Amino acid sequence: MYTCGPTVYDYAHIGNFRSNLTADILRRWLAYLGYEVTQIKNITDVGHLVSDADTGEDKIEAAAKKKKVDPFEISLFYTKKFFEDEQKLNILPAHKFPRATKHIKQMIKAVKTLLKKGLAYEKRGNVFYEIAKFPGYGKLSGNTLEKLKQEARVQKHPDKKNPFDFALWKKSEPGHIMKWDSPWSEGYPGWHIECSVMSMEYLGDTLDIHTGGEDNIFPHHENEIAQSEGITGKPFCTFWVHTSWLLVDNAKMSKSKSNFYTLRDLEKMGYSPLAFRMLVLQSHYKKHLNFTKGAITATQVGLQKIYDFIETLLLDKGYEKGGAPPREIDKLIREYKEKFETAMNNDLNTPQAVASLFEFIRKINSLAPLRKKEAKPIYDFLIQLDQVLGLNLDKIGKQKPAIPVKIKSLIQKREEARQKKDFKKADELRIKIEKLGYQLKDSKKETVVKKK
Ligand SMILES: [Zn+2]
Repeated sequence: MYTCGPTVYDYAHIGNFRSNLTADILRRWLAYLGYEVTQIKNITDVGHLVSDADTGEDKIEAAAKKKKVDPFEISLFYTKKFFEDEQKLNILPAHKFPRATKHIKQMIKAVKTLLKKGLAYEKRGNVFYEIAKFPGYGKLSGNTLEKLKQEARVQKHPDKKNPFDFALWKKSEPGHIMKWDSPWSEGYPGWHIECSVMSMEYLGDTLDIHTGGEDNIFPHHENEIAQSEGITGKPFCTFWVHTSWLLVDNAKMSKSKSNFYTLRDLEKMGYSPLAFRMLVLQSHYKKHLNFTKGAITATQVGLQKIYDFIETLLLDKGYEKGGAPPREIDKLIREYKEKFETAMNNDLNTPQAVASLFEFIRKINSLAPLRKKEAKPIYDFLIQLDQVLGLNLDKIGKQKPAIPVKIKSLIQKREEARQKKDFKKADELRIKIEKLGYQLKDSKKETVVKKK
């Protein structure tokens, strides 16, 4: 499985993370089904130009100039930030994160092959892919050469035979820092050849799955097909998985508007990264996700409900003692496991899978209080589903031991007594709490409680 990774010239935005999350959920789902998944995610640290028309600056060089630092420093910095954000979102790390700048030799070799096969041409140190020579062009996006000609809005390029041809190798402009020797010029690779080369290097000529954002379909993935199939003569990829746009307040996210968010922005606004993960889960990857503050607030509340439910399962409270007739918890678990799996098998219908999880919790809550031996299989079931959802449910109750509700209510009563200056009662309650194995420490601001 190959996932188009970040161009590391800035913080990734939440739209980038939406499609990365789709890839993560798909990978987790395949693993849940018993497949062995190898995921490769590239780091584009050179060659992604500001414009799709092979004009304009390299995004990383442009960012480096603006900040007056070395472009390699820029790419290292934002690669690190990308990894940090992925971890916060509980995205499983890819098995390998190949960097474009470490695969220049292989890219030059691929360009040589395309030239030899007559699919590419050189002009003044630049090498272009001639799409008229590849009959399958347009099979992914529908943008065949004929269709492109009709829509022709692309500017003519002085070195291209056809304005829709795309760069495989670019001669570096004066002042360009990231450049390498090649048979054609001192320059750098085009963005599309990077993904063809790095995906085939680690996964072979034909990939099972290739993921990316909807905006990658054309030209990026269309061009990857033309290059890879042009080189190998074999099908490049069996399944393409493209995640639809993320909109903010129903508009396309744009840096020039005030509707542009990184994960860090969300955190500053008080939303947890996993609330964003939950928001992504609650919309189907093929549909637009409309991000609003109201929507993420709602998912944060929903997520907390699941966490609270797990916490009560872990607490030894209110369990019914023997005598009551046996109940069919196992049957309920089987029923909802099937609902969850059916939803996921239906083209990753995560909104429905999450809905079935909430429904399950409601059903269980209607049976409360649970018996102690009933809590364990319910907990295990939710942890099993979380292998797919990735909401860190297994971390609940692990960071700090939860305070039982009974103790919480005694503390509350003691607090009330203290406020009424009924210190005798407050002391009695303290002794009671201590007898139950908890220690209290009063400070001006609050009372801290710890298990003894
Ligand atoms: Zn790519």
